[in-house]
Amino acid sequence: MGVCELCGRSNVETTIHHLLPKEMGGTFEPTSVLCIPCHKQIHALYTNEEIAARLRTIEELRKDEKLSRFINWIRKQPPTKVMKIKKSNERRRKGR
Ligand SMILES: [Zn+2]
Ligand SMILES: [Zn+2]
Repeated sequence: MGVCELCGRSNVETTIHHLLPKEMGGTFEPTSVLCIPCHKQIHALYTNEEIAARLRTIEELRKDEKLSRFINWIRKQPPTKVMKIKKSNERRRKGR
């Protein structure tokens, strides 16, 4: 359990996000700690190419319009709530 760097909720289950996707050479680049819904949302909204090109800091992610709308919503959700986020290729993208 920890604090999500994106939505700022505490007591959430967290995952490690590579700010530069591993597939784009980010294995040894900085990572950030995100709650599961935020992390899933990032990869549902953006491709690795988009992330590598313009969303390589938490600040840039927060400022992006699509994601900031999601953050405003998720902030109001209790940490324990499990959300369903639509994504077709979840299995392949696991572990990013
Ligand atoms: Zn979050
Ligand atoms: Zn990630």
